[in-house]
Order: sequence, then C-alpha cells, then structure tokens
Amino acid sequence: GLSLRNVSHEFGSSRVLRDINFDVAPGELVCLLGPSGCGKTTALRIAAGLERLQTGSVLIHDEVVASAGQYLEPEKRGVGLVFQDYALFPHLDVAGNIGFGLRHLDASQRQQAVINALERVGMADYIKAFPHQLSGGQQQRIALARALAPVPRVMLLDEPFSGLDVARRAELRDTTLHVLKNAGIATVMVTHDPEEAMYMGDRIIVMNEGQVMQDGTPEDLYFHPENHFVASFFGDVN
Ligand code: ATP
Repeated sequence: GLSLRNVSHEFGSSRVLRDINFDVAPGELVCLLGPSGCGKTTALRIAAGLERLQTGSVLIHDEVVASAGQYLEPEKRGVGLVFQDYALFPHLDVAGNIGFGLRHLDASQRQQAVINALERVGMADYIKAFPHQLSGGQQQRIALARALAPVPRVMLLDEPFSGLDVARRAELRDTTLHVLKNAGIATVMVTHDPEEAMYMGDRIIVMNEGQVMQDGTPEDLYFHPENHFVASFFGDVN
C-alpha cells in the first residue's frame, strides 16, 4: 500500500499542503477530491517522487521512499503513473510506448507483457498503431496499459478521464476499476468531480486549501459529512 505521513509543502511562501495523512491498502482505490488549487496534484506528485518532499514521509509497502534526507527516484518506487503531462511518446508505436518501461525484460518476455497489458484495457488490436492514429480515449487506454505493464504496487492517476466524452468516460472508468481491482494495486485517483469520486472510490479524501477535510467511504461523506465544506461539496450529487 501507500502512506503519506504528516506531509506539508510550500511553493515560495504559499503553503499548498498542510499536514496531509492517509493510507491506501492494496486493491483499494482512493479518490482525492477537491476544488482547483487545493493541492491534489501536488500530493500525488510527492507520492510519485516527481516533486521533492519537504516535510513528512512517504511509505510504499511499509518502506520509506521519501523523508527528511531520503529520496528514492520515481522509477525505483514501483509506481504506475497516468498524468496529464505524461503523454505517450509520439515517435513510438503502442508496443514501443508500453515496452519502454520494460527494458529490463528480454524481447520475448517484453512482447508478452505488452500483449497482456493491452488485453487488459481491450486494445490488443492496436499494438502497431502510433499515438496520432488513436482517439483521445484510446490514447488514455494505452497510457493506462503503459502504467500497468510493469505491474506496479501503487497506481497514481491524475484526472485520467478528462477530455473524454460521457460514453467513453463511463467505459474507461469501468475498465480502470476492473483492471486495478483484479491486480490488487493500491490506487490514488485525483478528481474534482464528486460524482466520479462516489462511483470510483472505496474511500474519498476531500481536500480544501491544502488540508484533508474528511476521509471516508462515499456513504460516510454523503450521509455523515463532518463539516459544511464536505456537505456542500456533495450537496448536488444524486
Ligand atoms: P487542479 O485541480 O486545478 O489541478 P490541484 O488541487 O491539483 O488543482 P495543485 O496543482 O496541487 O492543485 O496546486 C496547488 C497550489 O500550488 C496551486 O495554488 C498552484 O498554483 C500551486 N502550485 C502548483 N505547482 C506549483 C509550482 N511548481 N510552483 C509554484 N506553485 C505551484
């Protein structure tokens, strides 16, 4: 699983995270939900190692991967990433994109791992396609396959369905849930959409201004909000 302990973060003089604590168990999907600018992406980037931790610690499967004076690079954390600014390589075909993170395997093992990952997202027929030949939704499936192929212990998804139409979004939500649950991966997904968080999350962590406002199941948050902020956030969801 993944744990953040007492994580605080500043950009210049602005405090964007204030003593964040949460745990995600293997096979659990936790949504980070909150308004624009509340610190969701920063929390995810710190967990991934894309942003250097300032205060607190990050643990993966009970091993400290970041703390004061300690920093393990993203590639060594066993973390799969689907980030908006982490696009497919345009000059590589699908096999090349997914195989990139599997260079430690020999050619036949790598080929098999690429095929397995593509089958899990329903894209086996597209192994030779280039990114520009794929729709947005297909590219997002490939990004998910690329993140899954090395069999990460932890998956970090930042608004993975943004830019998709309603039907594709619904389809990819279900694929994502199915694949991650079956693989027993601890997942954190950032979203600003309460409805999406209710649908996807085993738990939802509601954030505002760098703080955790509540951490609970969708039912907890909907029926027993601990403060006005959480109540108002779910007020419009049916
Ligand atoms: P959104 O939903 O809009 O992506 P978010 O909740 O993911 O928002 P963050 O991207 O974590 O929020 O940003 C939190 C705050 O930190 C914002 O005020 C943002 O402007 C600021 N911030 C983020 N990255 C940097 C950076 N590299 N340098 C300076 N400030 C930053």
